[in-house]
Amino acid sequence: MIPFFNYQALFRDNEEKYIEIIKDVCSRGAFILQEDLENFEKNAAKFINVKHLIGVANGTDAIWLGLKAAGIKKDDEIILPSHTYIASAAAIHFVGAKPVLAECGYDNMLDVNDIEKRITKNTKAIMAVQVNGRCCDMDKIKELADKYNLLLLEDAAQAFGAKYKNSYAGTFGIFGTFSFYPAKLLGCFGDGGALVTNDDEIASKVKLLRDHGRDINGEVIEWGFNSRLDNLQAAILNEKLKTYSNDIKRRREIASRYHAGLKDLAELNLPQAPTTKSDNFDVFQNYELRAKNRDRLKKYLDEAGIKTIIQWAGSPVHSFKNLGFSENILPKTDKFFDECLMLPLNVTLSDSDLDFIIKEINNFYKNK
Ligand SMILES: *Cc1c(COP(=O)(O)O)cnc(C)c1O
Repeated sequence: MIPFFNYQALFRDNEEKYIEIIKDVCSRGAFILQEDLENFEKNAAKFINVKHLIGVANGTDAIWLGLKAAGIKKDDEIILPSHTYIASAAAIHFVGAKPVLAECGYDNMLDVNDIEKRITKNTKAIMAVQVNGRCCDMDKIKELADKYNLLLLEDAAQAFGAKYKNSYAGTFGIFGTFSFYPAKLLGCFGDGGALVTNDDEIASKVKLLRDHGRDINGEVIEWGFNSRLDNLQAAILNEKLKTYSNDIKRRREIASRYHAGLKDLAELNLPQAPTTKSDNFDVFQNYELRAKNRDRLKKYLDEAGIKTIIQWAGSPVHSFKNLGFSENILPKTDKFFDECLMLPLNVTLSDSDLDFIIKEINNFYKNK
């Protein structure tokens, strides 16, 4: 049996070290806004070459705190792909702004050819979502943002360490955000997130917003919230960051192995294989392919003990009828969601697990 994700292994594989960290942090009583958080913020910022990284409670908070800090307000419109998690749109909703949903492009990312026609006089920003550990076509998106004088934001929850032309995901626009949810590339033992920015003003605003509007002297400067990254989680993340480059390397190896074993199947449309020649350096949060007879393939693999997932329960954001989106038909996105399937991809998988998965997928299409 190959589970889609192995939560227990996250702890077990380095158990002694984590127990030591928990003991150390707790015996110091260092729970909220302590040096472990500062260290993590410094190290993680350095890892992706950004001036500020601010730990917050989760990836969703990171987006809406960023939107607040950037001055997004009621009736502003923000364009984002419908191929994303509901959290991206919810963060926009909760600052009173309107999420405007765009299509899924040839690369399964935000369709750069579907942005321009959705721009109105109320449009304030484009939010690129770096799905599956890959960056969108950031040159083109930046060009559009510049042309129409819009802010560029990134929901990079799934892409810590991904690059596009040597710049890291999260660092292209006014701010970018990450999630440290356990199943994310860099996952902690609970909820966690961060906002990154090269803008000093955004950074200091988010620092106030995450801690009741208080400055370092405890003086309340403006209305704020409580959205702090736990110091204990930060200490765990700091430890995980030490070996994170190896995790990325292994994820890319797994993607290459899938690619080599599946590339001859005409029924599949695979994500781009990792290569040094590409503009994209993908970190493969997920290995999401498009498959003919997707539902039958999923069932066949399930019976063989291989657990796959259809991302976001097979529902693009525009399909949630109760949320009042005006974009109710996005044909390219709907087609994507009819075909998409995520194979297991995490650092606990062995090569023989991968070979078994590859063999079973080949068997399915041969015997169909
Ligand atoms: C995980 C995720 C989020 C939300 O992160 P949380 O930490 O769960 O709040 C936002 N956007 C995308 C694309 C995600 O995958």
